[in-house]
Amino acid sequence: MTTDDLAFDQQHIWHPYTSMSAPLPVYPVVSAHGCELQLASGEQLVDGMSSWWAAIHGYNHPRLNAAMKAQIDQMSHVMFGGITHPSAVALCRKLVAMTPESLECVFLADSGSVAVEVAMKMALQYWQAKGEPRQRFLTFRNGYHGDTFGAMSVCDPDNSMHSLWKGYLPENLFAPAPTSRFDGEWDERDMVAFARLMAAHRHEIAAVILEPIVQGAGGMRMYHPEWLKRIRKMCDREGILLIADEIATGFGRTGKLFACEHAGITPDILCLGKAITGGTMTLSATLTTRLVAETISNGEAGCFMHGPTFMGNPLACAVATESLAILESGEWQQQVAAIEEQLCRELAPAKAMAQVADVRVLGAIGVVETRKPVNMAALQRFFVEQGVWIRPFGKLIYLMPPYIISTEQLSRLTRAVCAALETDTFFID
Ligand code: PMP
Repeated sequence: MTTDDLAFDQQHIWHPYTSMSAPLPVYPVVSAHGCELQLASGEQLVDGMSSWWAAIHGYNHPRLNAAMKAQIDQMSHVMFGGITHPSAVALCRKLVAMTPESLECVFLADSGSVAVEVAMKMALQYWQAKGEPRQRFLTFRNGYHGDTFGAMSVCDPDNSMHSLWKGYLPENLFAPAPTSRFDGEWDERDMVAFARLMAAHRHEIAAVILEPIVQGAGGMRMYHPEWLKRIRKMCDREGILLIADEIATGFGRTGKLFACEHAGITPDILCLGKAITGGTMTLSATLTTRLVAETISNGEAGCFMHGPTFMGNPLACAVATESLAILESGEWQQQVAAIEEQLCRELAPAKAMAQVADVRVLGAIGVVETRKPVNMAALQRFFVEQGVWIRPFGKLIYLMPPYIISTEQLSRLTRAVCAALETDTFFID
């Protein structure tokens, strides 16, 4: 890439959550192999992000590449309306087999946010079809579910700046974020506000929507599994649906194949995305029960009212099927357990550092919460100089590497994090 390309990028191309008038620097990546990103300058960076939870098997995986190449020679895409194809069937067979038994019906879409829209729409249509329309969702503060409007309406109201969309965005119900930690004691008082909200609005709530166990982009918080058990019970008592957004947590990241397994619960609707294709293509899936699917289908519309152009994209389905086949070998369990153990050990010294408010580790996720917000541009540059790719935000510096990362590569990441924490100028007063 030339300096002219970079200048064009700065002037014309929006990046995630950036300003067009004062864009933060971007780093040109020209290829990626295994756990390393190669910059245009020739430098190799160890990847600590898995491209936002997605590239769990690393980059340029030979099996994933082969699956995509084989599919391209058949067809890259074909519409899903009135047509089906072997890759969609193979993928959905695997999804139905690897998720809890009651989740039988799969809706394929093109991104995580759309999977959430689909889940919310399923819940609304379910109640509509029952002749008892309900239009509200109950969720936690500090949640994150995507950037489309339905998904945004259940994201943390402050983090996602609900004030910008007042009057347009549906007003949902927000319980305080869980405080009982995953690795701590269950505190009965944690439930009080949530239970009160549910009781006060029990006839309005279509569904509870949450990220099981790990709240991702809304704060990287890890909460006690008892929460999920209690919420499942409350939803059952009231007939309210439970939507689990496992777009970030799914496919092994937390040490279980799905985070709901930490609590032994099954949601009525499950959203999957990100790692589903091993980080190669954009694809998501929303699974639900026969009961929800049939109730919707027997309602006024006679169908589920959604059907994106690229639904069931064969290329994405083919590579997702292969990615799930890699997971089926079960190796991820030892890999994630080893990453967890190493993250715990190597991030432990950070706990005592002045800049650090908290250190949390679960599965292949390591989080350092700082006392002050980070200077993102300066810290990003420092990490690149250290030969690592880590993308902090707010008061969070976190690692979620590909499962195939080596011990040495992971040490390089944790060393860079600890070194950054010792440098006061990376933190904004
Ligand atoms: N839900 C969760 C829990 C997520 O972490 C994300 C993405 N960060 C989404 C939904 C939205 O997915 P996408 O960015 O693919 O639309």
